[in-house]
Amino acid sequence: MALTGLDIFKLLPKTNCTECGVPTCMAFAMKLAAKNAELAACPYASEEAISKIGAASKPPIRLVKVGPTDREVLLGNETVMFRHEKTFVHPTAFAVAFSDEQSPGDLAHLTATVREYCLERVGEELTLDLVLVENSSEEVEPFIAAIKAVAASAGRGVILKSSNVEALEAGAKLLEGQRPLLHAATSENVDAVAAIALKYKASVVAQAATLDELAALTQKLTALGVQDIVLDIPAENIAATLQYNTLARKAALKTAIQPLGYPVINFVTEEDLPSLVADASTLICKFASILVIDTLAYQALLPLMMLRQNIYTDPQKPIQVEPKIYPIGEPDENSPVIVTTNFSLTYFIVSGEIENSGISAHLVIVECEGMSVLTAWAAGKFSGEKIAAFIKSSGLEEQVKTRRIIIPGYVAQISGELEEGLKGWEVVVGPQEASDLGPFLKLQVQKEGN
Ligand code: SF4
Repeated sequence: MALTGLDIFKLLPKTNCTECGVPTCMAFAMKLAAKNAELAACPYASEEAISKIGAASKPPIRLVKVGPTDREVLLGNETVMFRHEKTFVHPTAFAVAFSDEQSPGDLAHLTATVREYCLERVGEELTLDLVLVENSSEEVEPFIAAIKAVAASAGRGVILKSSNVEALEAGAKLLEGQRPLLHAATSENVDAVAAIALKYKASVVAQAATLDELAALTQKLTALGVQDIVLDIPAENIAATLQYNTLARKAALKTAIQPLGYPVINFVTEEDLPSLVADASTLICKFASILVIDTLAYQALLPLMMLRQNIYTDPQKPIQVEPKIYPIGEPDENSPVIVTTNFSLTYFIVSGEIENSGISAHLVIVECEGMSVLTAWAAGKFSGEKIAAFIKSSGLEEQVKTRRIIIPGYVAQISGELEEGLKGWEVVVGPQEASDLGPFLKLQVQKEGN
């Protein structure tokens, strides 16, 4: 069971020496209880403390690594049921499914698509993570041929899916050193699959029809020496899958049932794309560690990639860009000056709209701890005084002749304060929505010309 801060404090030296980086042993105990620190930071922890606190501070869901070290995918290590409690740690890995009954031409074409797929959003590159090769033929040779084609071309970690233990072993041998994930150990084949996993250093999916059977199966696997396990409970529909995922996580987190403390793999198999996206979205939120999809349709991948990025962004650390003056296009000394906050999404949307307008501008990005415009204003981080001080210290006044600055429409109320702080500047209230910025800028440039 998890220890409270007070339980942990009783086991610490209580000398308040500060060497762990916090002022007191009590403060360190609280950080440990919140899993925001590691006991190793205290050089004076006793053997008793190490054994008791160390065991209690182990993540309730095991960290499992799949794929070659230069492209490894981390799964699990989650500590909360809900993202807003702290954060989700390792994003759902998207695995694209292939079959050994697909033609070599199809495999080559589709795996190249997996390798090259990359969506850039708010400064991050969003890609596909894993490939799954299914032994639909149930024969060894086609399976091996497909693994060779897919693994080499996709450049991703591989999940091997087969009910044929001989094929699974041949595949694991082929991928030795690349940490494949074997799907799946069941109560019937657990000894054989565990032996393959140990021999070729692979992880194992444990598959069972109920949570009780699954817990028994993972205990058997760990007793055989397999530690890196992923859970799979095939379910009839999305509601049942959601229920299993939730129960497994709750069991691991709330009641410390270690046999269910592993990442989860889910499959989405809907034929129409809207249903597939709906199911996949549900499972990204609740609590798929690996999501196997059998489509590369852009209209499905785009919303799923964006949702995953949003859900797995730490809510306590908004994505931010560096506060500075960004030239958009090729601005000169007469180009418009626009100001906003350093929330990444705001920056990329505003800079994109300026670019699309074809008008070059100076975009002033003010340090606001990554908050959006209204949030930053409400928190006192995006005030006229602060913007004025930033512009003065940035040297912008020496670079440009223009003395007109455009502020976001949502914070019209700071214009007086900003004019007060930036003597000689005219403050223009811009549109509320970034999508209206292009026409607004064109109008401003026209006015300047007249
Ligand atoms: Fe206490 Fe250890 Fe931190 Fe020193 S290093 S303050 S003994 S917890």
